[in-house]
Amino acid sequence: MIAKVIVDISNSEVDKIFDYSIPSDFELAVGDRVLVPFGSRSIEGFCIKITDCSEGNYKLKDIIKKLDDKPLIKKEMLALSDFMKEKFYLRYVDTLRLFIPSKLRGNKVKALQREFCTLSSSDTELLKSRISPRAKSQLAIIDRLAGGGEYLTVLNTEFSPSVINSLVEKGIITKSKQEVLRKPIGEIDKNINKVTLTETQNKAISIIKNSDKRVVLLHGVTGSGKTEVYMSLIEDALIKGKTAIALVPEISLTPQILRVFRSRFGDDIAMLHSGLSDGERYDEWRRIYDGDAKIVVGARSAIFAPLENLGVIIIDEEHDSSYISESNPRFRTLEVAEFRAKYNDCKVILGSATPSVESYNNARLCKFGLSEMSNRISKNGMPEIKIIDMAQELRTGNFSVFSNELKEKLKETINNGNQAMLFINRRGYASYMQCKSCGYIAKCTDCDIALTYHKEDNMLKCHYCGKRFKPLDICPNCHSDSIKQGKIGTEKVASELQTLLGSSVKILRMDNDTTTTKTAYLDILGAFRRGEAQVLVGTQMIVKGHDFPNVTLVGVLDADMSLYFSDYRSCERTYQLITQVSGRAGRKDKLGEVIIQTYSPKHYLFNFVKNYDYKGFFDKELNTRQVTNFPPFTTIVRILVTNEVEEKSLNCTKKIYDLLKELRVEYGKEFVYMQAMKSPINKIQNKYRYQIVIRIKRKFEDEILGKIYNIVDNNKQGNSVFVEINPQNMS
Ligand code: ADP
Ligand code: ZN
Ligand code: ZN
Repeated sequence: MIAKVIVDISNSEVDKIFDYSIPSDFELAVGDRVLVPFGSRSIEGFCIKITDCSEGNYKLKDIIKKLDDKPLIKKEMLALSDFMKEKFYLRYVDTLRLFIPSKLRGNKVKALQREFCTLSSSDTELLKSRISPRAKSQLAIIDRLAGGGEYLTVLNTEFSPSVINSLVEKGIITKSKQEVLRKPIGEIDKNINKVTLTETQNKAISIIKNSDKRVVLLHGVTGSGKTEVYMSLIEDALIKGKTAIALVPEISLTPQILRVFRSRFGDDIAMLHSGLSDGERYDEWRRIYDGDAKIVVGARSAIFAPLENLGVIIIDEEHDSSYISESNPRFRTLEVAEFRAKYNDCKVILGSATPSVESYNNARLCKFGLSEMSNRISKNGMPEIKIIDMAQELRTGNFSVFSNELKEKLKETINNGNQAMLFINRRGYASYMQCKSCGYIAKCTDCDIALTYHKEDNMLKCHYCGKRFKPLDICPNCHSDSIKQGKIGTEKVASELQTLLGSSVKILRMDNDTTTTKTAYLDILGAFRRGEAQVLVGTQMIVKGHDFPNVTLVGVLDADMSLYFSDYRSCERTYQLITQVSGRAGRKDKLGEVIIQTYSPKHYLFNFVKNYDYKGFFDKELNTRQVTNFPPFTTIVRILVTNEVEEKSLNCTKKIYDLLKELRVEYGKEFVYMQAMKSPINKIQNKYRYQIVIRIKRKFEDEILGKIYNIVDNNKQGNSVFVEINPQNMS
């Protein structure tokens, strides 16, 4: 017999299937991982097919050995690999790699061990006496472990890793390696009670269940209780003996949501998130593969979890851009989910308070089912949103970044013992440094991008490549010393806020700079949840899915920021951002308030935001897209060519452009736009960037795309060339 094998070599342009003969002394199955001779080496590969004839008429080599007991790639995943290869133009090997943990490849796998935490003494009172009675979380961990012990992975989802570490350092917790017992010991948080679903939730669930559509959009305002709906659907799948995947954006994979799920589903659940070490990820994967975990909660790549017999797939915050993988291997999570749902005959549920225009349009066109929840669980309802005209503030002499109203409300909130969140979509201190006399702007030497000033380390930093430079004191161009700073960022907001509120008020800041370590963002969110600070200032990171009961005030400092980006999605994004961040206010028993500061208060967007009028916004936006020929009415294709030698990338771009012109002639009106140009950021990390942007109608989309890929594949000429479909970012 002959095995068709995909060999696992990286950096190879070839995506060939090789034939090997199967020695008569062992049995091989499709999906098996094997070791095969390849040139002078032996390398790993995957058997994707077994046949009895080979097309080539050369002597076949034998497979050396089979590497696991059972096929690692299950049938469904092999089919998915075929689908993804076609759909996203990927290489076989790149898809297969998505399906198994990196630790498994190259035989790096160790015995199945996990770190297990126990108390160093059974006398919990004695242990507690060694820590300060104010260290509430530390005391709580001791209580948690009193029953026996817990895997570190699990504990990490319930408590802040830094708190756990401090107990390890004090010798109160002992860590040991344990062979994995498939059922983690340790208790599950029973403090989280099962709620009784509201009538609205029940209705939403029954609409979802009764829909005859493969994909159902659950459009529920912030705080409408979508999580309970998800859990009920998952429970249903389990009762039927099936399994479930629930995806959330990485950033909202907080201990809180994991705890809620775990308290409901206990050991049936496996979690895949970036906080796991390679070993832990492998263990979780194994539990899923072996059928010990029935539910997987995780970020984007958890869609590839090797569950069998799926009963439901949930994609929470479906509008989030993290569901689209833009770098190799490129894929769109929804399409993968749809494939798996079809294969298993189950549904995909997309949840959001601010669905993407594309998804909501699909619901309108009856391609997706639609289930809506338009009220909050909390009786207080949606927070009131106020739009403040910052130009007016300037005219009345207020030059601060905070409007007078926001200043007052901040003070009031803190005096009442509540918490506030301030959102500004720019990190650092000031966005750029510019010479006032000649207009010179400090730019990165490797990237065509203005540098951002960071006061904490008194440096200019490039946000694209991370390079650091000395701040400007004298203009290198005209030698003037009058240098001004551009727009403000999180760092400056936090420092001005401190001045405004006084030193007794504790302020936390969350952005890329304060979350460089793996656990930092969990620590910050945890501290804020525990009330250790009164204000949280942050970028996009603070927007997603968090449920802080004491937050009564939300401020959006510069709502115009993303509005005027030269991107067809900028209105949609701004609407989503502002609505989501507003949704953090007044979620539990307290009334919430939102203050939005802008220089263009008359922009139509703010009216929709203020009135929570998603449908109004959607209609307007869809109309604009139709009139201007943008998605979902067309598909945007960007072909990006990069090379360290500018001329090479330019020539390659020209060549591809000429061939595309012929294609355009062939398809006539299907092409609504095509232009070759320098990329808006012409150089990143010393590579010059040119691009061709095309918009095509959707009727012959697949056919045309196939031809575009073909042209690109045959004309790379040593350049890196990427084809992106509806890219999130055109810079
Ligand atoms: P969403 O994801 O829609 O923004 P959540 O699922 O976070 O909203 O729910 C908002 C709040 O309402 C949470 O604190 C949750 O515990 C609570 N909640 C949800 N459903 C119920 C219910 N049926 N009864 C009581 N509280 C509920
Ligand atoms: Zn100058
Ligand atoms: Zn740079």
